[in-house]
Amino acid sequence: MFEADVLDVPQQALTGGLPEIPHVDELLREAHARYSADRDGAVATYIPALAAADPELFGLSLTEVDGTVHRVGDTAEHFSIQSISKAFVLALVCESMGHEELHRTVGVNNTGLPFNSVIALELNDGNPMNPMVNAGAIATTAFMPGNTAEEKWEGIRSGLSRFAGRELAVDEQVLASESASNHRNQGISDLLTSYGRLRGRPEEIVEIYTRQCSLLVTADDLAVMGATLADGGTNPRTGERIVSPEVCRDVLSVLAACGMYERSGEWLFEIGVPAKSGVSGGIVAVAPGKGALGAFSPRLDRAGNSVRGQRACAFLSRALGLNLFASIPRPPEETSHG
Ligand code: GLN
Repeated sequence: MFEADVLDVPQQALTGGLPEIPHVDELLREAHARYSADRDGAVATYIPALAAADPELFGLSLTEVDGTVHRVGDTAEHFSIQSISKAFVLALVCESMGHEELHRTVGVNNTGLPFNSVIALELNDGNPMNPMVNAGAIATTAFMPGNTAEEKWEGIRSGLSRFAGRELAVDEQVLASESASNHRNQGISDLLTSYGRLRGRPEEIVEIYTRQCSLLVTADDLAVMGATLADGGTNPRTGERIVSPEVCRDVLSVLAACGMYERSGEWLFEIGVPAKSGVSGGIVAVAPGKGALGAFSPRLDRAGNSVRGQRACAFLSRALGLNLFASIPRPPEETSHG
């Protein structure tokens, strides 16, 4: 395992704000118009309640770290957060467990396999490796502080609500539907238990995990939740400090490597910011020091990522200068050798 002896070195941060772009609203409208006729992909059906989603819904929301909001389309439409909860539960767990323990017990590497893979566990001696796929996320949920299932759940519900800046509620229909059909996640939990990697009773942990996936959010909420991670852990809607800047850094690095499942490399190549998607069609894309995009549209690619959401994020990443890897050469007179 790679271990760097740098924990005593203070973390400097050199992120800048959003560039002075007066027409952010116009660019959001353009992104929405460009992709709203796009009908590629399909709505998730493996959780029966999700199959009922209106595939035409499409919302784009951007919250800047100073709290400024830009939005277009169906940004107030509620949908279950699904896998995007993994990012924020990880942040809560990371806040209590710390950088090194997270690295050691949950892992921070991409499995390169689909989000519900069982093989990924078998190939790695039961080490979940990646907290953004189901095995790693279920293991992470088990690490929530609390002596009882109720305490752990309440920590998740209230923690994710604080990220959103409003009280989030469970979609009971989605919860019932997934609880009746999540045999695969139950199998993953039993397998984790067989390797001694799950803290607590497997059926109890899967229930909490399924519940966290059923929390209802909007694209506007996702943008606020992401902007909290973009601003060192302070919610731009409420001004409340939710997690530390170090936790934001750690979670965002995991999102960059793993947030879009086995498509994370392609996402980083095209869009260049940490992000997380969920099978109900949401995406949160975070530009550190700038803000976050919340996208929602239910048709998914084969990895389980919203098609319109990805395309709109790609457009906006370019147009707004969000890509972390992009640089522009200085004019010759400004360089020391020019
Ligand atoms: N609740 C879903 C599951 O466990 C979440 C998956 C996802 O959004 N990719 O299958």
